[in-house]
Amino acid sequence: MSEEKKIPYKIYLSENEIPKKWYNVRSDMKNKPAPLINPGTHEPMGFDDLRPVFCDELIKQELDNDTAYFDIPAEIVDFYKMYRPSPLVRAYCLEKALDTPARIYYKFEGNNTSGSHKLNSAIAQAYYAKKQGLKGITTETGAGQWGTALSMACAYFGLDLKVFMVKVSYEQKPFRREVMRTYGASVTPSPSMETQIGKKINAEHPGTTGSLGCAISEAVEVATTNEGYRYVLGSVLNQVLLHQSIIGLETKAALDKYDIVPDMIIGCAGGGSNLGGLISPFMGEKLRGEKDYRIIAVEPASCPSFTRGKYAYDFCDTGMVCPLAKMYTLGSSFIPSANHAGGLRYHGMSPVLSQLYADGYMEAVSVEQTSVFEAATQFARTEGILPAPESSHAIRVAIDEALKCKETGEEKNIVFGLTGTGYFDLVAYQKYNDGEMTDFIPTDEDLKKSLDLLPKVD
Ligand SMILES: *Cc1c(COP(=O)(O)O)cnc(C)c1O
Repeated sequence: MSEEKKIPYKIYLSENEIPKKWYNVRSDMKNKPAPLINPGTHEPMGFDDLRPVFCDELIKQELDNDTAYFDIPAEIVDFYKMYRPSPLVRAYCLEKALDTPARIYYKFEGNNTSGSHKLNSAIAQAYYAKKQGLKGITTETGAGQWGTALSMACAYFGLDLKVFMVKVSYEQKPFRREVMRTYGASVTPSPSMETQIGKKINAEHPGTTGSLGCAISEAVEVATTNEGYRYVLGSVLNQVLLHQSIIGLETKAALDKYDIVPDMIIGCAGGGSNLGGLISPFMGEKLRGEKDYRIIAVEPASCPSFTRGKYAYDFCDTGMVCPLAKMYTLGSSFIPSANHAGGLRYHGMSPVLSQLYADGYMEAVSVEQTSVFEAATQFARTEGILPAPESSHAIRVAIDEALKCKETGEEKNIVFGLTGTGYFDLVAYQKYNDGEMTDFIPTDEDLKKSLDLLPKVD
């Protein structure tokens, strides 16, 4: 017990201990993630094929499966210093409430205005766009965290930013929209009348409230038809996992300070960027045969890419304009049920994590949203932080694992990623508090509809 006491509530690193390199987990993978392929020819996409859409330096990072470490440019480290290192917190109060012998730690990424880990990659992507001499970038946002993070990053480097925000979110989350505008971004509800694809979708589906896939298609169109613009994406891509490795590198440095070895590492999985970042150095050790950890991805039962999807080539967007990626997918036409409030709505999963999952290096579980909000509420009341619904998927499984330890008496070290705060998700909390939240699990028939439409690639 006395030894226990030495571990502080928050393990902080000093500013100088912010990692100076990102770690590329692909360098240690024997089976590399499958390449992006051209939707027409099915040929792998190379540097020149991707140049009209993405920033040059980011394409190099995307395609590089071999370089283990990338220097983080000094300008990005300077920005990181404004909100990093993020704390690794020992959840003493939650442990006590659960009466568990397990030790629970969480890495908290909600300590910045955008309220999530997405800023770690947003600032990197804005930096490389600026360095290339571009005027601006375009992107889509659904719930709004990515758009907000990118607005902050673009304001910092003086870049123009055009965000296509899914119309239903634009109308339901006016405060997210205002944060983006405050940072200087222009925010357009999608589908809009500003793009060819937007006009087409509006004509075919009058009154539609939009989708992420449609917003991606609009953002890509604007980037490719305007001189000096490129498109950026906040999850799924290899480059995003690379930038997010900062989460895992800091976590490992903090744990090492107190000789804490995690038994399991848990993270929520939407497109896979926070989980991929959190686990990267630990997965590296596992891949090199140095250590073993249980690594658990948590996804919503209403959008179960890992646990019920297919490992296959699919479109990254519903508009079917983007390259094909090989990933666990529910099919690009899959749309989670309307009552799903907890984020993590993407139909596919990072190709890196997909390959690692296929090779048996990690596990995945799915959880239902009422049990996710129950965990969120318990966490808020004990640890004080109001968690994002996305993050609360990881909380759910961390609590479940800690309760198993109570049964067995095992003192396991549980580490999970607390990706963000839930201040903009209060409509979902309201539903839960009013007892109006329900669960929805798609049937095999439901999933078959979108899986049957997967592109045929041999
Ligand atoms: C976007 C987001 C996620 C899910 O995205 P990943 O790419 O899977 O990490 C999780 N938590 C928060 C708070 C987010 O904003």
